[in-house]
Amino acid sequence: LTNQTLPYHFKTSNASIQDLNEINAAVRPGLLKIVNSDFFKYFKLNLFSECPFWDDNNGFCTNRACAVDLIEDDKDLPEYWKPEALGKINDLNDLDNQPIDAQDELLNQLCNKKFITGNHYSPLNCRDIDYCDVDYITNHPDAVLVDLVNNPERFTGYGGEQSGLIWKSIYSENCFLIDDKDTESLAKEVFYKLISGMHASIGVHLSNDYLDTKTGNWGPNLDLFMFRVGNWTDRIENIYFNYAIVAKAIQKISPFLQKLEFCSQYDNQTLNLLNGLSTHIDENIFHEELIFDGELSSALKDQFRVKFKNVTKIMDCVHCDRCRLWGKVQSTGYATSLKILLEMDNDPMFVINSLTKYELIALLNTFDRISKSVQLINNFEVMFNEKYNTD
Ligand code: FAD
Repeated sequence: LTNQTLPYHFKTSNASIQDLNEINAAVRPGLLKIVNSDFFKYFKLNLFSECPFWDDNNGFCTNRACAVDLIEDDKDLPEYWKPEALGKINDLNDLDNQPIDAQDELLNQLCNKKFITGNHYSPLNCRDIDYCDVDYITNHPDAVLVDLVNNPERFTGYGGEQSGLIWKSIYSENCFLIDDKDTESLAKEVFYKLISGMHASIGVHLSNDYLDTKTGNWGPNLDLFMFRVGNWTDRIENIYFNYAIVAKAIQKISPFLQKLEFCSQYDNQTLNLLNGLSTHIDENIFHEELIFDGELSSALKDQFRVKFKNVTKIMDCVHCDRCRLWGKVQSTGYATSLKILLEMDNDPMFVINSLTKYELIALLNTFDRISKSVQLINNFEVMFNEKYNTD
């Protein structure tokens, strides 16, 4: 799996899978400290917002009780093994019962700068540069703070027709209307790789933290991993593609982190960790300027922006809370990476100043998810060789 050079159809990175594995081994300890720190472990979202795209009339279930389809026959399962229970969010730190001001207060104690909210229009080209609906996520009256560390991404039993249809509608956002057909197909390919890499990464996590309903034990399931991801070279590749994209976005904002002042009061340590992370990432890990073969038009960027905003909104149609949580975090993380990679060259400080706390939290947690996936792919490869290459 992992010894191959990435057969990129893209010329966006010269890094081989081996190079990315080595970078990952170097960044992993610092990244773990970051995502376990107080600032980065709380994410805010509205778990109860209605799916904005469809209703019962066209076959999707919007009723919370009916929406969780079972992968397995649940009749014989104990209550706590059912998807509703497995996909539940644990321990909202009692913050969900507190008024929104109290929740904000907690985060503001960790951070002495109020983040700008609302739409961000670049003064240079008068364009909206928001790639996700972060203002909606965080300012909604029903939004709650969730401790990501207490709610790991894992097998939830969520599946069947409902989740299949959600994935289908996410993939079908992949429709770009651009005069230049070559650019249009490149845009489609980049969008597809990003979504497929996110989808595959979720598959790696649920295969690794899998509940064996016969024994009641949690642990890695090699066969499930092979079925979902390991047997598909392109899915492995897309995970590494996403790794390179998110890593480059973090590397790109690193010179500006001190200027972010997002937490100068509470934590130089976190800033140091963030800076430490980027020292392991070479700027050549990904060449965003080569994605589209030439000048990237505002029209194309806008289409990417709208597509990604829709993907973050489609997550409101996911009726497994834990899946929705991580779906929101990761779609917001990828949207933030795109915002940094596609918009910063025009007007770096404007983009930096427009980054919200939650975009940053999502970015780092998405890097952690994809970084753990890379680590797990290597673990599964060892398991595979032990099981099947016995000579
Ligand atoms: P699905 O994964 O539903 O895939 C549907 C179809 O897409 C497949 O038949 C295949 O043709 C294609 N496909 C599959 N993978 C890829 C890929 N990487 N690239 C391109 N095409 C692909 N389940 C959990 O247990 N834990 C979670 O945390 C979790 N989070 C989720 C988050 C979201 C946003 C969604 C929509 C679902 C989530 N799920 C989660 C459910 C999980 O992703 C699967 O949908 C579910 O396990 C059923 O899997 P499946 O084999 O039927 O195929």
